[in-house]
Amino acid sequence: MEDTVLIVEDEADVVDLLRYNLKRAGFKVLVATSGDAGLTAVRTHRPDIVVLDLMLPGMSGLEVCRALKQDPKTIHIPILMLTAKDEQKDRVKGLETGADDYVGKPFSPRELVLRVQALLRRLRTTAASTSLIELDGLTLDKSSLQARIDGERLELTTTEFKLLITLVNNRGRTLGRDDLLRDVWGYSPGMDTRTVDTHMRRLREKLLGHAPRLETVRGEGYRFNVLPDS
Ligand code: CA
Repeated sequence: MEDTVLIVEDEADVVDLLRYNLKRAGFKVLVATSGDAGLTAVRTHRPDIVVLDLMLPGMSGLEVCRALKQDPKTIHIPILMLTAKDEQKDRVKGLETGADDYVGKPFSPRELVLRVQALLRRLRTTAASTSLIELDGLTLDKSSLQARIDGERLELTTTEFKLLITLVNNRGRTLGRDDLLRDVWGYSPGMDTRTVDTHMRRLREKLLGHAPRLETVRGEGYRFNVLPDS
């Protein structure tokens, strides 16, 4: 069955461009033209992915994103945010509310379709495996996309979960930002985005007592450290 993309955007020409290109790529496309309508559409139709504009009448894209990522029923639906070009502040804000990635306007429709496909593929490969990883009080369940610390559930987005599992699977090894963009976001080389660092910061906040194990290796990337006695 075809995947459903919900476009939340009020500018008609941007909607037309997105709808045309996503349909051509084989997606079923739904459209909402305000923040409030977007939130209702996600809750009603449970799309596979949301392309969410930041600037919307009524509820802003940030508010919609925050609402979806705080609700356990919708936290796993990937969100690709559209931001104004070079609005670094907007991007950072979008990612901090839990968006899985952003694309700046004006965007290349081809690149946007590639990113939507990559984010969905990434979701499938995570969900398809069933094993459980346990490491010093940290438990990762790949089938339910749930992480726990000493039995307590962490509210992670799909991207945060995939990021954590990739780091844990490679524990003791430094992973570069390019490696992470490929393995976590499913991006091919040349798809440049600064999304990694913001996600890492959010993940650290959620890891509580385990946060110090997630080390930034200056000039190289990130490493999840093994505890000395394990
Ligand atoms: Ca807009």
